[in-house]
Amino acid sequence: MPPGMVYFVGAGPGDPELLTLKARQLIAQADVIIYAGSLVNPAVLQYARPDAEIHNSAGMKLARQIALMRTAVESGQAVVRLHTGDPTFYSAIMEQMRELDKTDIPYRVIPGVSSASAAAAALGVELTLPGGTQTVIFTRLAGRTPVPDTEALRRLAAHRSSLAIFLSVGMIEQVVDELRVAGYDEDTPVAVVYRASWPDELIVRGTLADIAARVQAAEITHQALIIVSPALSPWAKESVPNSYLYGAALQQPERRNAPAIIALTRPGTETGRRLHRLLPGSWLYAPARFLEPEEQDEQGIVPYSVSVRQALQRAFREHNALICIMASGIVVRELAPLLRSKHTDPAVVVLDQQGRYAVSLLSGHEGGANRLARQVADLLGGTAVLTTASDVLGLPPLDLLGQKEGWALRRGEQLAALSAALVNGVPVGVVQEAGDEGWWPDPIPANMRRYPSLAALQEAAPAAALLITFRQVPEEFPKAVPRTVIYHPPCLAVGVGCNRGTPAGEILAAVEQTFAEEGLAIESVCCLATIEDKADEEGLLEVCRIRSWPLKVFSREEIATVKEVPNPSAWTQRALGVMGVAEPAALLAADSNELLVEKHRFPNVTVAVAKRRSIK
Ligand code: SAH
Repeated sequence: MPPGMVYFVGAGPGDPELLTLKARQLIAQADVIIYAGSLVNPAVLQYARPDAEIHNSAGMKLARQIALMRTAVESGQAVVRLHTGDPTFYSAIMEQMRELDKTDIPYRVIPGVSSASAAAAALGVELTLPGGTQTVIFTRLAGRTPVPDTEALRRLAAHRSSLAIFLSVGMIEQVVDELRVAGYDEDTPVAVVYRASWPDELIVRGTLADIAARVQAAEITHQALIIVSPALSPWAKESVPNSYLYGAALQQPERRNAPAIIALTRPGTETGRRLHRLLPGSWLYAPARFLEPEEQDEQGIVPYSVSVRQALQRAFREHNALICIMASGIVVRELAPLLRSKHTDPAVVVLDQQGRYAVSLLSGHEGGANRLARQVADLLGGTAVLTTASDVLGLPPLDLLGQKEGWALRRGEQLAALSAALVNGVPVGVVQEAGDEGWWPDPIPANMRRYPSLAALQEAAPAAALLITFRQVPEEFPKAVPRTVIYHPPCLAVGVGCNRGTPAGEILAAVEQTFAEEGLAIESVCCLATIEDKADEEGLLEVCRIRSWPLKVFSREEIATVKEVPNPSAWTQRALGVMGVAEPAALLAADSNELLVEKHRFPNVTVAVAKRRSIK
């Protein structure tokens, strides 16, 4: 050791074995040792020379210490100034060095093991977490030494980094208040380590809610560190992806690619459990109190007793996909600070606690939340709620199909289920026998299949059905395929002939009976049609008013242009000079040359039906 030098030496947190070799050697060679008696363990002085001059700096003024150092150095002696932990922070060596500079007294600084390291070691944690915080903040509350406003604890705490709070245990209530202001939850874990590495080391663990009371009960007023860190969360260790530590040698399912199911309530945990079983490779995070004892250490089930914020934020960092079984508001609020970009944020799906609606909340496309929402809804028999336009498979909203053409909707209450089936990839059968086909998605989704007839579709028995037809759908059909939605495009022209003075009721009954006998949907009627001689027929006009059907009237000449009349009438021929009324009127109105239903004769009414070829 070159003589005439001051050494500021880190004495470590307490345990003499935590001295550095350099510190021990300097202590062994020092002529003069000045140590901070309040914090430095006197046991480290066992390595000092028996003839070394040893001073306790407690209660010693700075000027006196500097004078001691100067005297010694000027007479060629080596001075060791021992500081607790590491002397490079909170040690007040700066003011000593400033004084020594004034008279050019040489010095050196020897680092040591900080009490922060000893405290974290005592707690058995790593203050930085793979996939979690990568920052440790060493700070303190203001005491006699002020702290700049920009470093107020509440501001530093906003980072949610690990905090090692020095010199403040005597103000623990103030620390707690600052953390509350920073938005920490009451159940945030907080640890206080008193005299780390000393024989009487004491660890007090608690939460924001009770740590102050616990510290006071333990009568800790000094020489303790307050540690606030995500690393203290009960599942922090568990949630370190092994891939970070062991590379390819995975010992547990890798979390990043496994969806995390986060439950909050008891029913939510129940739904979460169900989903966890159905969703391969998923992880279930649930409040510890809602899990069965045997579930607590089951692979892929993580009990948590921290706040839901911490659970969500942890899962957000560690998983590529989250299914949050809770109100979407909670998820939005707690995840908002973590959101970066749709290219990197994990998929976030919100599920109500009954599992009825799986809402794709974040990263719908790239992140796969839409896909996940569908999958979840599918597994639970619920509905996926997607709000990204193109992901509704390019379909027009099913409830607005044929809106322009005035398609009549039946079983509209099944629309949600049908849409869900369609987006969930469940087989959906479609029959379209009428109406504009412009709504068909291109390409047609793999789970959507067109059938030529109701019978063919019923035979295939898909999970859901969309029927666009002018036919009456038999009662058994929706029983076989409950998720059936029916549209009846108005495409049937009903030709009507009747005797003068036939009442509306009788005419309507004739039409209805014809439709019933032929299995046609009355909702698909687009108009009544007749000959000019009946244009003022009261009953006929009344029927059209009642049913809001237009009445199309054709002149005798127009009627006469129809040559193919399957059932010509001698009576009509005689009375009106045409082969018939109902059949030709229907064909003309439908712009068709083929009848769907040939003339039905009633005492005073005839009815025939033709289907429009196009709806324009
Ligand atoms: N530079 C030192 C800290 C000195 S300031 C270091 O690196 O440790 C003194 C504060 O350090 C105390 O108020 C207490 O908060 C903390 N401290 C020092 N020794 C400690 C120990 N053994 N256990 C817990 N905290 C300790």
